[in-house]
Amino acid sequence: MATFTNPADIARETLKQMMARRMAPSPDNYRAIYDEIAGVSEKPAEDLLEREIRSLLSQLPKDTPAQQGLARQLDQALRNRDREAYRQPLIHFIREHGGETNLAWRELLADFLQQWEANQSGLTRAKKREALDRVLSVSGRNEILFSRLQNLTRSWAANQPADEDIELVEKVPEPAVSASAPAVSSAPLSRASELLSELREAFVFALENIVAASLEDEPEAAAQAKGFAARARAATTLKAMSALLADIRRFAFSLEFVVEDRHELRAGLLRLLCLMIDNIGELVIDDRWLAGQIEVVRGAVAEPMSLRALNDAEQRLKEVIFKQSHLKHGLMEAKQVMKQLLAVFVDHLAEFTDSTSDYHDKIEGYAEKISRVDDITQLEDVLGEVIRETRLIQFNAQRSRDDLRQTNQRVVEAEQRISQLQDELDKASQMVRHDQLTGALNRRGLDEIFEKELVRSRQRRSPLSVALLDIDNFKKLNDSLGHDAGDAALIHLVSVIRETLRPQDTLARFGGEEFIILLPDTSVENAAKALVRVQRELTRRYFLANNEKLLITFSAGVSQVRPDDTEATVIKRADEAAYGAKTSGKNRVVSI
Ligand code: GH3
Ligand code: MG
Ligand code: MG
Repeated sequence: MATFTNPADIARETLKQMMARRMAPSPDNYRAIYDEIAGVSEKPAEDLLEREIRSLLSQLPKDTPAQQGLARQLDQALRNRDREAYRQPLIHFIREHGGETNLAWRELLADFLQQWEANQSGLTRAKKREALDRVLSVSGRNEILFSRLQNLTRSWAANQPADEDIELVEKVPEPAVSASAPAVSSAPLSRASELLSELREAFVFALENIVAASLEDEPEAAAQAKGFAARARAATTLKAMSALLADIRRFAFSLEFVVEDRHELRAGLLRLLCLMIDNIGELVIDDRWLAGQIEVVRGAVAEPMSLRALNDAEQRLKEVIFKQSHLKHGLMEAKQVMKQLLAVFVDHLAEFTDSTSDYHDKIEGYAEKISRVDDITQLEDVLGEVIRETRLIQFNAQRSRDDLRQTNQRVVEAEQRISQLQDELDKASQMVRHDQLTGALNRRGLDEIFEKELVRSRQRRSPLSVALLDIDNFKKLNDSLGHDAGDAALIHLVSVIRETLRPQDTLARFGGEEFIILLPDTSVENAAKALVRVQRELTRRYFLANNEKLLITFSAGVSQVRPDDTEATVIKRADEAAYGAKTSGKNRVVSI
């Protein structure tokens, strides 16, 4: 046979030889002929391999009948030099004994339980149990059981919707499993497991810090919520979780009643408050400031309520009570004085009429006596009596005059006291936070809210915008329609602004016809839009003065609070922007 060195030539010759010798085209036959042509001696290699396998065989365990069977199979295969006959049992052996530790039983069981609990369309519990029985009936090797269980779990999972909707099995921290391990968990499933763990934490937090805290006035229920939180944290077994779920469902059911009760209580309290407010409103019908304040309180407690509006209402109610108590005090004092005056006056009148009518009667009597007197000595007696009577009446009159002077003095004092009270009341009114005419905040009220909003905006890193608006041509309106119409226009503007902006926006009267608006959580762009909305609303809601429809317009400057701003600096910027709005034609909003 010619010698071949080129592998392509050897391969071609090998095929020729195989056809010539009519050999089956198997890989082994191919290799044998190839080696023969290439001049490779295969005997030493065969011997080496044989030796190695025999040495391995001698070390294999032969404890169980299966192991002994395998050893016999391998021995036979070696003797027959049948590669396939020893390759297959060896692969099985390695799989059976080498791979077992890598099987991810923990994950598989977790996934299996999850699928067992989940609802899959067309799969009843009974059907699932039947399928599981079939899997468990497989005898022998763990690997097969693992694989069949895995297949079963996957087939159930395939009945479910998309990844993000897969029910979750929480990831339990554990030693890492070899990368070659058969794993059921896919990437979304493992992310979902992490989410489930976070969900559990959030649930526990909500139970402890929100549910329990909001049940302060129901200590038993609060303790129950805390108990559930502890159980939710500790529950790891399916049994514990199912029990917890059932208990929480019952708890939630009982909480529904608590919530309903609270709702009713709140509604009842509000009704009571509205009733009281209505009553106060009736009492102070002739005090415009008080009536305005009452109106605002009434608005604040109307639905929907906000904490901010409630605080505002509380503040205003306090001011109403404060002013009322002052008025009541002054009123009672004035009443007392009037009563005393009336009593003195009636006394004096009675005394005076008594004594004068008595005097008249007596004088008439004396006149008659005098007319009948014909003896001068008798006249002397009568005159003596008349003089005595006259002196008495003179004395009474003098006393009355003195008393009246004193009373007059007391009236003057009472007047002074009332005017002093009025001064005090005026001072007290200056201390309150709301403008008496419009009910908007005054400068003092604005300062307080500004400080709070500034802190809040910086803490939350949320934008705070400030608008300054100035009514256009207000002097003209005052001059043409009178000061009262001007006042009414200011009240109209305030009510339109209030109804157009959000409850959390603050409106303050900054000066005569200038107002400041604070808009929390609002960028300068949105603040400008809000102001434009007010302008539009003003064109819809005319101001009526002497049956004449008037359009009130304003010019406004808007600015957003910057990191190093103070109240003064941001208002100054808004003022500059408002000036820009005035000079560029009025009735416009300029942002800066
Ligand atoms: P501009 O468009 O440039 O703002 O002109 P204006 O007339 O609105 O502004 P100006 O500052 O010239 O006049 C403001 C007027 O507002 C003058 C003042 O009499 C009037 N005013 C201030 N406070 C009150 C108030 O409480 N009631 C009434 N009726 N008028 C007020
Ligand atoms: Mg002005
Ligand atoms: Mg003006």
